Amino acid sequence: DRGSGGIVISDDWPGYSLDLFSYPAHYSGDLNSVIIPHGVIMDRTERLARNIMDDLWDHDIVVLCVLKGGYQFCADLVDRIKDLSHNSTQTIAMRVHFIRLKSYLNDKSTEDLHIVGAEDLSFLAGKNVLIVEAIVGTGKTMKTLLKHVESFKPKLIKVAGLLVKRVPCNSACLPDYVGFEIPNRFVVGYALDYNEYFRDLNHICVISETGKKKYMI
Ligand code: 5GP
Repeated sequence: DRGSGGIVISDDWPGYSLDLFSYPAHYSGDLNSVIIPHGVIMDRTERLARNIMDDLWDHDIVVLCVLKGGYQFCADLVDRIKDLSHNSTQTIAMRVHFIRLKSYLNDKSTEDLHIVGAEDLSFLAGKNVLIVEAIVGTGKTMKTLLKHVESFKPKLIKVAGLLVKRVPCNSACLPDYVGFEIPNRFVVGYALDYNEYFRDLNHICVISETGKKKYMI
C-alpha cells in the first residue's frame, strides 16, 4: 500500500443508490448517489492508521487537523492510531492541533485562501508533523499550507488525505497517505460541506442539481 494513491474510484462509477443506505431525511432529493459508504471510509482509515504506525512509531507527532472539512477524518484517524497504540509495543505519542482554511464558495475554489487561526505555529519547530486533510483538489490549498508549515521548521512533515481528486496536478502535492482517488466531481458528507450543509451526513455523496440550487448562496 505504501506510496499508493489509495483506492481508485473510476470516472464511470455511478455510485450506490441512496435508497440502499440510510441518511438524514432532510437531505432527500439533494443527493445523486453515495460514492463512498461510511463503513468503507472507516475500513480504509483503519489501514491508513496502520501505515502511519509502521512509518512513525516511536515518534512523537503533532497532528495538524485542517478544519473544517477534516475534523471527522482526523478524529477517526487519531482514534484508530490510538487503538493501535494500546496493547502494543509500537506506539505514537500524539498532540492534536487545529488550523482552519477557507477557499471555497458554492462548489468553486476561490483564489484567496484564508488561513484562519494560523497565529503562531512556532511550536512546530523540530517536531514531526502529520497534516490531516479531508480532500485535495487542485492541490493549491495543500501547497500553500505546506509552505506555511515548512516556514516554522518542523523536523518532518507527512500528509494524510482521505480523498484526492483526479485533476491535472503535479505529483509533488500528493499526500503521503491517501484514502481514495476520486473523479473530479464535487462531493459532500463525512464533514465535507457545500456552503456549510451536508457535514451531518456519514457517507461521501455526490450532490444533485436540486441540492446545489437549494443551498446556493
Ligand atoms: P484545492 O486547493 O486542492 O483545489 O482544494 C482543496 C480544498 O477545497 C479542500 O481543503 C476542501 O476544503 C475544498 N474542496 C475541494 N474539493 C471539494 C469537494 O469536492 N467537496 C468539498 N466539500 N470541498 C472540496
